[in-house]
Amino acid sequence: HNHVDHATAEKVIAAMHAGEVEPRIPDYKRYAEYLADGGYRTLVALRENGDWEDLQEKISEAGLRGMGGAGFPSGKKWGFVRANPGPRYLAVNGDEGEPGTFKDRHHIERDPHMFLEGMLIAAWAVEAEKCYLYMRDEYPAVLWILRRAISRLEAAGIVAPGYIELRRGAGAYICGEESAMIESIEGKRGIPRHRPPFVAQVGLFGQPTLVHNVESLYWVARVARFGPEVMNSVERNGRTGLRNYSVSGRVKEPGVYLLPAGSTILDVIAAAGGMLDGHRFKAFQPGGPSSGLLPASVDDVPLDFDTLQPFGTFIGSAAVVILSDWDDCRAAALNMMRFFEDESCGQCTPCRVGCEKAVKLMQAERWDGALLEDLCQVMTDASICGLGQAAPNAIRSTLKFFPEEV
Ligand code: SF4
Repeated sequence: HNHVDHATAEKVIAAMHAGEVEPRIPDYKRYAEYLADGGYRTLVALRENGDWEDLQEKISEAGLRGMGGAGFPSGKKWGFVRANPGPRYLAVNGDEGEPGTFKDRHHIERDPHMFLEGMLIAAWAVEAEKCYLYMRDEYPAVLWILRRAISRLEAAGIVAPGYIELRRGAGAYICGEESAMIESIEGKRGIPRHRPPFVAQVGLFGQPTLVHNVESLYWVARVARFGPEVMNSVERNGRTGLRNYSVSGRVKEPGVYLLPAGSTILDVIAAAGGMLDGHRFKAFQPGGPSSGLLPASVDDVPLDFDTLQPFGTFIGSAAVVILSDWDDCRAAALNMMRFFEDESCGQCTPCRVGCEKAVKLMQAERWDGALLEDLCQVMTDASICGLGQAAPNAIRSTLKFFPEEV
């Protein structure tokens, strides 16, 4: 809740990197404590005599899917990477630039070694030569914790010096897109690549690369240690598994909540302490600005992968933002589109020009629905990556669910 302007924040971050200011470090589970709890034993056992396909089966049985937003089945991804000859790499996406998403930070600031063990287990499974950890630079405490944790692992001989390379992002949302992140790690401007080839085939430095989000790796460690039941034993509303929802907006206790994957928006609001006093639930962003807005009436649908398709959207990284009767959906949609306009990498015309045009059209007193829909169609059909393809969701959902506001 401490709002500082952008320039001040930049100065503070620069001072932290220069070692002039120490970031405020949360009370996290240290290496010794993690070890005493049985930490790194699973990794050591797997390295000694584990079978990667057994573990892959466990991961698939657990139903683990990518938690960064795309939701690709993790076990399958390992198979694709393994199918290509080495050397192979692992790249961790910790960019977490989606507005409203803060679950990766939550995990690392509490239990960094669970995530690191998961990373090393996945690296073992695909025989990665090296792990690149791409972290959001606006998380100084996370960087501080990870630097220390990596030195501990090197000192303990769990990894060779330099096996884990920590890279700092530079604040570009697009670098959370896996191929743009790879370009950025390679030292180039972070712009998405055309696919195919997929990064599992031709990734970092032209080699097969396994890309996982921070939270996915946290779950890899848990499933490897406790078995698939740690995820698949939870059922609700016909859905199996668990999800971490980053909840913010007009709720009493914004934060990260681990809930069954079959939770509805009302369950999520209840977990976050309910609506703020004097606010009536009006709308929500289910999974980052790319998912647009849904009305409060969509209150009995599980917020899980694939379940929001009938509403033209998706759960993504489960960045839930709650809006109330104090909020204006038209303004929220315009804000989302301004974000995409700022963050478009500019590589392709439908997105670069489309976002800019959309912002202009959305400022008209009355939205021209037909013209906006034309623009949305071009952006969806012809943009290279998910940013341009999903940006129209903010427009389409507002036109569909809140026509009286536009
Ligand atoms: Fe860049 Fe947008 Fe094209 Fe993606 S869709 S490659 S962000 S210009």
